[in-house]
Amino acid sequence: MESSSENLVKTLLRNPSSIKTKSQAKQLHAQIVKTRGSRSVSLATIILGIYSDLNLLKESLEVFNNFHYVPTKAWKSVVRCYSCNGYFRDSLACFVEMRGWGKLPGRDVFPSVVRACTHLKELRVLSHDYHLFDEIPLSDRVYSRRSSLAQDSEIGILIRSEKSHFESLGGRSVKNATGLDSVSKIFQMMPDKDVVSWNTVIGGNVQSGLYEEALERLREMSNAYLKPDCFTLSSVLPVFARHVDVLKGKEIHGYAIRHGFDKDEFIGSSLIDMYANCTRVEDSYRVFNLLSEKDDVSWNSVIAGCVQNGTFVEGLGLFRQMLAANVKPVEVSFSAILPACAHLTTLHLGKQLHAYIIRVGFNQNMYIASSLVDMYAKSGKIMTARLIFDRMEIHDSVSWTTIIMGYALNGHAREATILFENMQHDKIKPNAVAYLAILTACSHAGLVDEGWKYFTSMNRYGVSPDLEHYASIADLLGRAGRLMEAYKFINDMPIKPTGSIWATLLSACRVHKNVELAEKVAKEMTTADPGNMGPYLLLSNMYSAAGRWKDASKLRTNMKKKGMRKPPACSWIEVRNQVHAFVSGDTSHPYYDQIHVVLRDLYERLKQEGYVPQISEALHDVDEEQKSDLLYTHSERLAIAFGIISTPAGTNICIIKNLRVCVDCHTAIKFISKIMGRDIIVRDNSRFHLFKDGSCSCGDYW
Ligand code: ZN
Ligand code: ZN
Repeated sequence: MESSSENLVKTLLRNPSSIKTKSQAKQLHAQIVKTRGSRSVSLATIILGIYSDLNLLKESLEVFNNFHYVPTKAWKSVVRCYSCNGYFRDSLACFVEMRGWGKLPGRDVFPSVVRACTHLKELRVLSHDYHLFDEIPLSDRVYSRRSSLAQDSEIGILIRSEKSHFESLGGRSVKNATGLDSVSKIFQMMPDKDVVSWNTVIGGNVQSGLYEEALERLREMSNAYLKPDCFTLSSVLPVFARHVDVLKGKEIHGYAIRHGFDKDEFIGSSLIDMYANCTRVEDSYRVFNLLSEKDDVSWNSVIAGCVQNGTFVEGLGLFRQMLAANVKPVEVSFSAILPACAHLTTLHLGKQLHAYIIRVGFNQNMYIASSLVDMYAKSGKIMTARLIFDRMEIHDSVSWTTIIMGYALNGHAREATILFENMQHDKIKPNAVAYLAILTACSHAGLVDEGWKYFTSMNRYGVSPDLEHYASIADLLGRAGRLMEAYKFINDMPIKPTGSIWATLLSACRVHKNVELAEKVAKEMTTADPGNMGPYLLLSNMYSAAGRWKDASKLRTNMKKKGMRKPPACSWIEVRNQVHAFVSGDTSHPYYDQIHVVLRDLYERLKQEGYVPQISEALHDVDEEQKSDLLYTHSERLAIAFGIISTPAGTNICIIKNLRVCVDCHTAIKFISKIMGRDIIVRDNSRFHLFKDGSCSCGDYW
């Protein structure tokens, strides 16, 4: 039986054209994955060819996206498939990329490319490949293709340059943003200034960043007994947002209500933005709810407001409501919501959005592409992130930084450093964020000398290190076990060290078991940040680990006296569009019984694999009465167990936790990733962990 189906597979693979239907192709594919796994490049290429011949774009891309190295034949299949499905731009992008890899086109791919070019009226790519215009430099070809996309890129820049959507609306109030000087001059000379001319000048001031002047004009305007109208208000509201002056903003809001402007969706959106920028999400949401007409601008404003202020789940909820209300998402919508997907690692939704983005052709928008890179990287899909990055038309500092940070978080320091160099070859100057990314990469990989080299080179690019850069270096030294150096480095910082920098060193002391220094650091830390109980907990755990039970219990009593209580640990996981929260020791989840069975089962298998529970630290991390079944109760384990029973084998599991992952869970999750053959991503309050094949990207240091 087995061998006969094997023979059939072999025969089919030799004659791929004998496969005539989608279901036959999928069966063959499944059979191959089952018997031979999915790692063989040549088998994947054959399967891709079959899908492509049947014009199955989705299936083709699924196979294609899994390639690490893409053979010429696979490129051609995808170029063909895109073209046959009418995705000419993607077809051409793929073709150009294929040529970029030095792959030669042939007879079999040209018809598709010609078709794509014809549709896009794009002749230069073709002529180049027919060697008629060999002298056209590559950049020209790429740019000529970009001409049709210029609009998208501009939108990207627009969105990036402004957090609020004001500029994208600017056209509605101010046509004269350029040539402001001459406008001002004419304005000064005008004997009768009406509202429109006031608006023009105020709007122009705002767009040129002359906020004080704009407010001054507003005052003059009211002195001239002229009432600001909708357009005036929508020009000045972003000013308050930017200056985080919620009081002045509220004044304007009151004015808007009194004059009945607050129902205006245009003003409404500005108010939503203003409140969101001033971190008043609730006010922002209230204004939104009162709007009688909600257009895409107001939806996007309220969603972006939620995401920027860290209320991700609410942001996602609103995004779904927007779709349900039949409001079509525009580019800004995606740049607003993708960071939420990245943060919550809701890859499922992220992929749906990605598919939608490709369908409507937003994938060339630089800002959206960067958000996708970020989302995939933070979901542990660094290869996909890289593919999207590689396919971007041009790279700016945001996209470079995003991919470098992606590699850093996934523990691939070498790639991060290579890309950092490539970015400079690309004539993009590293900024503060790029430096943070490369320092993170170095510290995760323990590259002390490199990290130090980058840190000292910052001045050369005119970037002055801020707190986070110092923290990375402290982290780097601490990780490498150079604890005293780290201690001295933090003490000598030109900026006053915060509690979180000391926390980094305290973690290092824990890993390297230096209790003496830990005591000193904990003291510094509690002075810098008195309300924080983190140092107490860490120190008390260290005492326990060193067998100094008396010190540990003294510290605990001390904490109780100070009225400090540990916030309940909580982990989240998203399964099929639903976020499930698990609190440590919680038995209330409807699937708790199954979860418990899985955990017990896992525990047995973990032990067989050589896992030894590190009770000493973990025990003191939880309340006394929980000691007995500690190993089943930590919230991240509950969430992971739930992930295991509710997602197909092999799927990534993504967890978010509000507190630091404990040592014992960290060890256990490493084993689980190996036993279950799943990548597990845990984002706790200090780090990003990607557990894969029994090890973690953080290098056991967090
Ligand atoms: Zn734990
Ligand atoms: Zn880790």
